[in-house]
Amino acid sequence: MNARIIIAGGGLAGAATAAGLAQAGMPVTLIERETGPADKICGEFLSHEAQASLSRLGFDVSALGGHIINQLVLARGKATITTKLPFTGLGLTRKTLDEALLVHAQSAGATLQRGLTITNVTAQAGITVDIAGQTSQTANTLFLATGKHELRGLRRDAVPPQDLVGFKMYFRLRPPAQAALAHKIALILFNDGYAGLQMVEGEQANLCFLTSRSRLQQLGGRWPSLLMDLCCDSPYLAHILAGAEELLPQPLTIYRVPYGYIHRPNANDPTHIFRLGDQAGVIPSFTGDGMAIALHSAALAVDMFTKGADARAFHRRLSEDISGQITRAGWLYRLASMPNLQGVIFSGMQLFPASLRMAARLTRVPVKSRL
Ligand SMILES: Cc1cc2nc3c(=O)[nH]c(=O)nc-3n(C[C@H](O)[C@H](O)[C@H](O)COP(=O)(O)OP(=O)(O)OC[C@H]3O[C@@H](n4cnc5c(N)ncnc54)[C@H](O)[C@@H]3O)c2cc1C
Repeated sequence: MNARIIIAGGGLAGAATAAGLAQAGMPVTLIERETGPADKICGEFLSHEAQASLSRLGFDVSALGGHIINQLVLARGKATITTKLPFTGLGLTRKTLDEALLVHAQSAGATLQRGLTITNVTAQAGITVDIAGQTSQTANTLFLATGKHELRGLRRDAVPPQDLVGFKMYFRLRPPAQAALAHKIALILFNDGYAGLQMVEGEQANLCFLTSRSRLQQLGGRWPSLLMDLCCDSPYLAHILAGAEELLPQPLTIYRVPYGYIHRPNANDPTHIFRLGDQAGVIPSFTGDGMAIALHSAALAVDMFTKGADARAFHRRLSEDISGQITRAGWLYRLASMPNLQGVIFSGMQLFPASLRMAARLTRVPVKSRL
């Protein structure tokens, strides 16, 4: 089978690119390894820029029943700061969102091939995409949107990953805790990481956190012990989760995310392979802007590709758009993780809650870059 444009991966970046190219009248095939809707490790805070990108694709995110979020709670030990967010976000599960966007792309005319895993890509004059258990496919252009997953033949440049392990679990909270968390995203700081806690659709709470591998090892790698340990560190978390019911049989986990990675365009880049989403840049998760970057990369790729630009020009422009916010987010994270500085920064933010809103603004896709 011969497809001229292949998109590898059907997360937000891949699905949005498929929808945009199909809307521009281009035949496009998207290959996704999951057979149907699947849970993903993500805090599921959909920022306002991400929502705006979706609406430019004619996608009605408000129809999916997400939970409106307009306040931020920053918690450390016994102390909390609550402030209004400078924008409105949505708590929406990736299982719902990614599936709906794939359906949107399909209705626009994209061909979806689901349940197929790409095993290797070779790029010479044309592109050959090898697929587990299937005949290889060829293309002239590949949009690489496999997210955190490396693809043989197209690995990302190494970034020293932090020794952090990520976890995600859904909870059914007791009604008073649910009311306390309503319309808030809670960012909970620990000495070795942080957690995001918020409501998503279906009256579920999403707890997603990063902690050090050494803490996990000290606790024998056991999830219940880890959760209890975090609740000991954070009375706020303990209060919200008291009596809550876990809704997944086991947490989703991730290890060694290359936060801070930005694909730097170079002369060896193939001109016909476009890196999107986490394959182009990975922002620290506390910003809740990874999905906005994925969607921005998709919109920019569609815009530039349909105007005849090659992948090198695209990567140059994308890296200009997202480098600043990823670098600033990295610095904020490093500062906030220094044990001696964390308390000072937290106290400063208690005195000047506006600085929290400024930090939130500094880690967005810049307004001038948005399409
Ligand atoms: C702990 C954590 C919390 C986060 N919280 C937030 C948040 O609250 N808000 C926010 O905006 N961002 C958040 N992010 C970032 C966000 O999840 C990512 O930036 C975003 O998912 C990137 O989208 P993507 O389309 O590039 O990749 P993905 O969403 O990862 O999609 C990649 C797709 O490719 C498919 N795929 C992978 N390999 C293959 C293969 N070989 N063959 C075929 N298909 C393949 C996968 O199945 C998947 O569907 C968080 C990230 C982490 C790690």
